[in-house]
Order: sequence, then structure tokens, then C-alpha cells
Amino acid sequence: MSLKTHRYSNGTVTVIWQPDICIHSAICFKGLAKIFAPRCRPWIDMSQAKTERIIEQVKQCPCGALSYLMNEV
Ligand code: SF4
Repeated sequence: MSLKTHRYSNGTVTVIWQPDICIHSAICFKGLAKIFAPRCRPWIDMSQAKTERIIEQVKQCPCGALSYLMNEV
């Protein structure tokens, strides 16, 4: 069975969120609330921070529920 994935892009980087493995640690939205806002839909707003900062935060997800891919140019 494949895991559900949700994708969010700013044109440069795509953040991938896998809700089935998210352990709701809150690390993402405590670290970067402008981007990760669980009460909003979509809950990830890629327009509110620079690509480098988004990547830095994604890397801190403790379980791999967040990952990223650089978009092709
Ligand atoms: S940091 Fe990862 S595990 Fe924690 S709430 Fe965010 S996506 Fe889920």
C-alpha cells in the first residue's frame, strides 16, 4: 500500500508531506509558523519564506513525514 502524499511548491522547491507518518511533533510549525499553519488550508503556504529557510525546516522533521525535491529548471 502506498502512502498518501501532499505536495506544495513555490516553483523552486516542492515540499512533500506524508500525513500517515506524521507524528504531530509540532516542530515544523513551532520553527516556521509563517509556512506551516495547521489551522489553515492548505496548511503549508510556500509563499511566506525563502526556499533555503523552508528546506532547513523540512530537514528538522523527526520522522521523515516532510521531505523536499528541487524543481527542475
Ligand atoms: S515536523 Fe514532521 S512530524 Fe512534526 S508535525 Fe511537522 S510534519 Fe509532522
